[in-house]
Amino acid sequence: MGDFDVTEGYGDIPERQQAVRTSDRFWMKPEQEINVQFCDSQPKRFWEHLFGVNFHTGQRSFSQGFATCIGHQSNGFVDDCPACVGRIRRRYVGMLTIINLTGWEGKDGGKRGQNEKQILAATTDDLRRLERKASQVGSFVKEENGVKVGAVFAVFRTKADKSPRIGDDWSFTGFKPFPEDVDPSPIDYKQFAPFTPEKLQELVEKYGESEQPSAPAQRQTPAVEDDDEEIPF
Ligand SMILES: [Zn+2]
Repeated sequence: MGDFDVTEGYGDIPERQQAVRTSDRFWMKPEQEINVQFCDSQPKRFWEHLFGVNFHTGQRSFSQGFATCIGHQSNGFVDDCPACVGRIRRRYVGMLTIINLTGWEGKDGGKRGQNEKQILAATTDDLRRLERKASQVGSFVKEENGVKVGAVFAVFRTKADKSPRIGDDWSFTGFKPFPEDVDPSPIDYKQFAPFTPEKLQELVEKYGESEQPSAPAQRQTPAVEDDDEEIPF
């Protein structure tokens, strides 16, 4: 788990509203190109559950309803986490902070989110791709002449079935200083601090039996993405 310190115990649980995932995960539509800049180099890795539901409204959603697994770190479901016992879809992720330099198109066709800081939630295949990119450029963040600079990539998502939501074609375009109006420090990874076992159990009882969306990477149609068009994953 590296320096990701939230799975060691239950002593530092944030208020519920802080622990509920917000709307700042990066995702892109197929055939789209977006420029992103890295704010940190090392992913924070852990297991999480995908309830596929907005905990506030109860409506199905891919961009919300994440809950960090409190079980031990082995493959598959484990027996020391209520969400695992409830067979809520579990996946391994690595989180990095990026700046979306391009933004995205909202439902009204208007531009949204340019220079917005977002979470890059990388699955295992994404992580292997990013590891290779990182080794090619040295480090995603470094200092040049006393100025902190971040690696910029032009990211493209192909139309291929199962193409990753964070794009599958990453082209390094150079190190650049961060946009002046953006705080380039990584997001507070404590937002991924797990719920209490009691809260997780409650969520399993409430949402565990409803039909869960299949994995984003395995879906044929982006049905829920449409609902969440304004909300990057
Ligand atoms: Zn679990």
